[in-house]
Amino acid sequence: MSRFFSEKYKDLEPYTPGEQPQDMQYVKLNTNESPFPPCEAVVEAAAAAAKTLRLYPDPDCKALVNKLAETYGVTPDMVTVNNGSDETLNFAFMAYCDASHPAVFPDITYGFYPVFCQINGIPYEEIPLKADFTVDLDRFKGVNKTVFLANPNAPTGIALTLSEIEELLISNPDNVVVVDEAYVDFGAESAVPLTLKYDNLLVVQTYSKSRSLAGGRLGYGIGSPALIADLNAIKYSTNPYNINRVTAAAGLASLQNDSYSRENCKIIAENRAYTVSELQKLGFVCTDSRANFIFAKSERVDGRTLYLELKKRGVLIRHFEKARIREYNRITVGSREQMDIFLAKVKEILEEAK
Ligand code: PMP
Repeated sequence: MSRFFSEKYKDLEPYTPGEQPQDMQYVKLNTNESPFPPCEAVVEAAAAAAKTLRLYPDPDCKALVNKLAETYGVTPDMVTVNNGSDETLNFAFMAYCDASHPAVFPDITYGFYPVFCQINGIPYEEIPLKADFTVDLDRFKGVNKTVFLANPNAPTGIALTLSEIEELLISNPDNVVVVDEAYVDFGAESAVPLTLKYDNLLVVQTYSKSRSLAGGRLGYGIGSPALIADLNAIKYSTNPYNINRVTAAAGLASLQNDSYSRENCKIIAENRAYTVSELQKLGFVCTDSRANFIFAKSERVDGRTLYLELKKRGVLIRHFEKARIREYNRITVGSREQMDIFLAKVKEILEEAK
């Protein structure tokens, strides 16, 4: 840290993203990317857009926003697009939280939420998940703070139902409820239809997982026109050109070929069920994940050892050194071939641990 770094950031603990190793080829099951490439039409649209990189992009991303609105059954003024959903989330923390509107989220959830609070000087409360890792919904009702919930939650993969989300919205009429649906396409219920009914709901989604575009950095928020105007005010006060031309074109083409991603999500859900059942045969305990990852622990090997032993064998998964979950690992669901390699290595490790 230099002697010039602002005092206000002296306690900042930056978010640690999952490893993106460049040293060797791993079976990479650690950052919930898609094992499938973007479809050909997306690659072609991106290549065509690359030829126009001389020009700034459209800051409103009109074509993309209109298509997102059409896809999700809302009006264009209910959609904002950002550089990954991390940016949408950061804007939401900036827009809806301050000293008199603290943030609230579960103790075990996406690890970026406390960092967004720190960088923006926002006080926050963490409400513990119940012992079975489900959200303690009653404690979020009428909480009088800005609520952030990942649904499905990360890294547990456990989802709330649409009626549970609606109960939260009704019980917090004067607070914004942000539902982070990064993983919703793999088997949970989206709250997007509720944005037409509740002006305090912001739904955040991403192209990074189900749409195979993690490297494109594209996320979006859907909510009432007033909420979206707030987020756009922040966007236009930080980086109006936050979506580059290649990504905007790729995002549009992805929506025009929606069935490709939907089919991929089905395959991931099948591979998830297969891997969970194989892990259970080996004695693992797995949560009921609706996401493109599995959250699992074994009595036969501790969480960190399993992570390290798999890494030695060329398979990367995600381990969180955090109380309550350090016995677990989060395993991204990849292709069937990747999952078979993962399972074979797990068996090898369990044999050796005997
Ligand atoms: N929300 C959750 C719950 C996540 O796990 C992630 C991925 N790390 C994100 C949001 C952010 O994804 P992106 O910025 O790639 O859209």
